[in-house]
Amino acid sequence: MLATRGYATQGPKSELAPFHFERRDPGPDDILIEILYCGICHTDIHQARNEWGMSMYPMVPGHEIVGRAARVGSNVRNFKVGDTVGVGCFVNSCRDCPDCDGGEEQFCEKGRVMTYNGLERDRSTPTFGGYSSQIVVDSNYVLRIPENLDPAAAAPLLCAGITTYSPLKRFGVRQGDRVGVVGLGGLGHVGVKIAASMGAAVTVFSTSQAKESDAHRLGATEFIVSGNADPGTLANRFHLIIDTVWAPHDLNPYIAMLKRDATMVIVAASPEPARIEAFPFIMGRRRLAGSLIGGIRETQEMLDYCAANGIVSDIEVIPISKINEAYERTVAGDVRFRFVIDLRTL
Ligand code: NAP
Ligand code: ZN
Ligand code: ZN
Repeated sequence: MLATRGYATQGPKSELAPFHFERRDPGPDDILIEILYCGICHTDIHQARNEWGMSMYPMVPGHEIVGRAARVGSNVRNFKVGDTVGVGCFVNSCRDCPDCDGGEEQFCEKGRVMTYNGLERDRSTPTFGGYSSQIVVDSNYVLRIPENLDPAAAAPLLCAGITTYSPLKRFGVRQGDRVGVVGLGGLGHVGVKIAASMGAAVTVFSTSQAKESDAHRLGATEFIVSGNADPGTLANRFHLIIDTVWAPHDLNPYIAMLKRDATMVIVAASPEPARIEAFPFIMGRRRLAGSLIGGIRETQEMLDYCAANGIVSDIEVIPISKINEAYERTVAGDVRFRFVIDLRTL
C-alpha cells in the first residue's frame, strides 16, 4: 500500500484538516499519479457538508485533478512516465453495460466509481479524491492533458469544462445561435468561453452586477442582472440556456425565453425542488433537461477542443492550508472564477 497525504473532513460540520491514508499498490493497468493541482468544484462543498444527504466520512474531496504519471503499469500502452494527466469525477465503471459501451460511463447502469465519496467496484473500499499527494487510477479512466494547456488552469476543465461542453455539443450549438448561461461561477465562466468559441452569442444572467466586465472579457455579448431580466423582451430568444446556479431560484422566466423546441439544461443541483409552470412548455414545445459531466471519450475530446481553442479556466491558485477559507469564499461567490489547490504545498 502507498502511504498518502491529503486533507479530509470528518463530518458535515468539520473543517478540512490533514489526513493520512493508503492508496492501493498500482496494478498492471494502473497509473500512479503525483498530483500537482486540484480544482475546488462547488460539488466538493455540497458533498463535504452533506448537502445532498449521501456523504461518507472521512472524505477527501477533489475531482478536477491534474498531475504527472509517476508509475505506469505494464499493460498501459497510451501513457508513459512523466506525462501530464488528468482525472475527473469518476475512476471506474462496469465496462459492460450499454452506457459504458456507448462511452457514457458517467451513467453506468451497474454504478460508476466516483473519484471520492464513492466505493470501488468491490463495493466496500472507499475512494478518496484529489486533495491529496497521489492517486492510483486505471488508465482507461485517465485523461491526457494537452501540452499547450497550463496544467493548473486546465484542472477545472475536468469537471466544469466537460459539464458545460457536453450539453453545448449535445444540443447542437452552432455559429450565430443565442446561448444563455445562468450564473457566472466555476461552471458558468467556462461555459461562456466554450459557447463563445463555438460562435454563439452568449448572454450571461448573473446576480452580481460587478461581474459584467468579466462576462464580456470571457466572450459574452450581453450581461443581464438576473432580477432585472424582463421575460417579455427576452421571449423566444435562446437556442439553449444552461443553468449553473445551485441556490434556489425561479426557473420559469428562463423557460419563456427559449425559442420553440429549445432546451434549458439544468446542471446545478439545488437542494429545493423547483416549481414549474406548464404553459411556457406547452406553448413553445420547449424542454427542460439535465446533464451530468461527460464520458471519458467526450472528456478527452473537450480537452483537445480547449487546447485547439486556447480555453482554460480563470483561476486563483491557493496553498492547501487555505482550503477552508476558499470554501467560504466560493459559497460567497468571491472568486474569479475557480480556486485551484497547489498540492505541492501539502
Ligand atoms: P460556483 O462556482 O459556486 O458558481 C455558482 C454561481 O451561482 C455563483 O458564481 C453565482 O453566480 C450563482 N448564484 C446565483 N445565485 C446565487 C446565490 N444565491 N448564492 C450564491 N451563488 C449564486 O459553483 P460551480 O462549481 O459552478 O457549480 C455549480 C453547481 O453545479 C453546483 O450545484 C455543482 O454541484 C453543480 N455541478 C454539476 C455538475 C453536473 O455534472 N451536472 C458538475 C459540476 C458541478 P453569479 O454571481 O453570476 O450570480
Ligand atoms: Zn465538479
Ligand atoms: Zn457500465
